[in-house]
Amino acid sequence: LFVSFEGIDGSGKSTQALLLHDALRAEGRDALLTREPGGSPGAEEIRALVLNGDPDRWSATTELLLFTAARRDHVERVIRPALAEGRIVICDRFADSTRAYQGTTRGDLRDTVDKLHDLVIGIEPDLTFLVDMDPETSFARAEARIGSESRFESFGSGLQARLRAIFLDMAKAHPERFEVIDGDHPPEIVASEIRARLAARLEA
Ligand code: C5P
Repeated sequence: LFVSFEGIDGSGKSTQALLLHDALRAEGRDALLTREPGGSPGAEEIRALVLNGDPDRWSATTELLLFTAARRDHVERVIRPALAEGRIVICDRFADSTRAYQGTTRGDLRDTVDKLHDLVIGIEPDLTFLVDMDPETSFARAEARIGSESRFESFGSGLQARLRAIFLDMAKAHPERFEVIDGDHPPEIVASEIRARLAARLEA
């Protein structure tokens, strides 16, 4: 089973990915927690390269190629082998983030994103939790933890509001894959909602 978490910056998706991973492990399930950009040694190197330094030193298309190269390595070296072993893979961000960020807000590249995805990635999560949140709230959270990897942290709730709408549109277009979760609750409440939705999906 391949599960991804998506959401705008500061939505709490990383916390939720971790809580789901820990809950599944506690039940004795073989869950693997991973993340993007990154998730394999090679892809983490690309992450460090892309998230630091001058954001404009590459064009939007070049940036997309770097993110795609990172994803290819992650899929090839980590995700596919884990799925082949029957493990539950929980990924903090996956291709939907690229569709939103590189495909839409960073450049008008949705077609290129989709073509590249078909060409070199070719895998989609079975289930995607979109941790949805009001950008004003997430903005305050993201701002509070600005650190060395802030290169891509998109300050300003205008952009975050756009990203939120893009994620919600994707969820609407693919209800078979997405579960939209209200992220504006205490983490343990959000986590139990996610576990309930996962259980319902697995029973269906
Ligand atoms: O999810 P995480 O906070 O680790 O992401 C790091 C940064 O990379 C975020 O600020 C996000 O905006 C950015 N990002 C991006 N394009 C992606 C994935 C993440 O610009 N495809």
